[in-house]
Amino acid sequence: MSKVLIIGCGGVASVAIHKCCQISEVFSELCIASRTKSKCDKLAAELAPKTETKLTTAQVDADDVQQVIDLIRSYQPDLVMNIALPYQDLTIMDACLACGVNYMDTANYEPEDTADPEWRAIYEKRCRDAGFSAYFDYSWQWAYRQKFKKAGLTALLGCGFDPGVTQAYCAYAKKHEFDSIETIDILDCNGGDHGYAFATNFNPEVNLREVSAPGSYWENGRWIEIPAMSIKREYDFDQVGHKDMYLLHHEEIESLALNIPEVKRIRFFMTFGQSYLEHMRCLEDVGMLSTVPVEFEGQQIVPIKFLKALLPDPASLGPRTKGKTNIGCIFTGKKDGKDKTYYIYNVCDHQTCFHEVGSQAVSYTTGVPAMCGALMLLTGQWSQPGVYTVEEFDPDPFLKALDQYGLPRKESWDPVLVK
Ligand code: NDP
Repeated sequence: MSKVLIIGCGGVASVAIHKCCQISEVFSELCIASRTKSKCDKLAAELAPKTETKLTTAQVDADDVQQVIDLIRSYQPDLVMNIALPYQDLTIMDACLACGVNYMDTANYEPEDTADPEWRAIYEKRCRDAGFSAYFDYSWQWAYRQKFKKAGLTALLGCGFDPGVTQAYCAYAKKHEFDSIETIDILDCNGGDHGYAFATNFNPEVNLREVSAPGSYWENGRWIEIPAMSIKREYDFDQVGHKDMYLLHHEEIESLALNIPEVKRIRFFMTFGQSYLEHMRCLEDVGMLSTVPVEFEGQQIVPIKFLKALLPDPASLGPRTKGKTNIGCIFTGKKDGKDKTYYIYNVCDHQTCFHEVGSQAVSYTTGVPAMCGALMLLTGQWSQPGVYTVEEFDPDPFLKALDQYGLPRKESWDPVLVK
């Protein structure tokens, strides 16, 4: 029996809320709060006849710490699930600390305004010191470790699929399959087709910022940064087939390098079709991916926000998207002195997801792990105070929950390796 406050009511949150409502014995009361309350009301009205979970809704601007504090004080939840945007991570963490409530999210902090001079000075120093230039990194949220520990509270960071399940796969490989892991390749394949020439599967602003940035990987204790999309490989994915994939920077590489220090190389690859890449290059060339405001007819406009308004809403892709996703990790390493390889992954079908929860598989593969992470926290299976990423907890009950609630694992001990 627990009370949970979910902030955000977009593509991912909608799946997480559907799934929480399937386990009313744990998620007995849910408050859905977001910037646009009408979306929360619509979802609550749709779910109320089908669930025992008691649903309420609220309006909140999570950029404003005081508004989040007021909401938490009035609702008194056991856990706050932040499924809004990475921009709100720090304000919601501050509010949780002020109110003594556990916290979780699905993506690490990045600022909305990357031109802010105060943030920029810290960012530029981090680029020089750490060696990668992504706008997001863990330093902002890791800075809360002592505060959460002292308060006896848990903050779980990045509990979607990647980040999230991919780190649980790493913890599982380390616990059960290897004495030491040498390389990790994280492979994120979306074989789905929505029929549009160009659309993003989750928040366009966050997605386009991520994929248009330089790629990077971890090798022999340091970051190697490369121009965006300059390392391409082809892979034959189970139940999807041959796809081109590109090396990207991805947030879980940073925490995995810290938590599995023996690993010599960690890379992240994501599949993209030609049409997506051509559109993205063109939009970038004309400045439409910029986060810096421009003046247009007397108004300040942020190009990437304007582009978001033009693109299809990711939540609307559900009925149109056909095909499967395949996301997982390939490991090499040693067990009992012998070389070993291991591949653990999940295959998820867009239409099956749509028929279950009304969303495509990209939202589903993020929302289900968010619910399972909340389940771990609420049932005390993951509970030590502090700020943690998924690989720092026991992977076994989490992977069991994923198997049960819609994202079962598949395994291979003889995978084709990525060159
Ligand atoms: P959406 O844009 O669909 O939804 C975001 C939601 O947050 C909307 O309901 C939006 O409200 C709300 N929101 C935005 N700003 C505020 C604010 N200031 N106060 C309150 N609510 C706010 O995003 P997605 O559902 O696609 O993504 C959600 C999160 O999941 C993101 O952080 C994303 O990075 C992460 N993600 C993680 C993945 C993983 O595997 N780990 C994969 C995919 C996504 P409104 O309707 O008013 O705009």
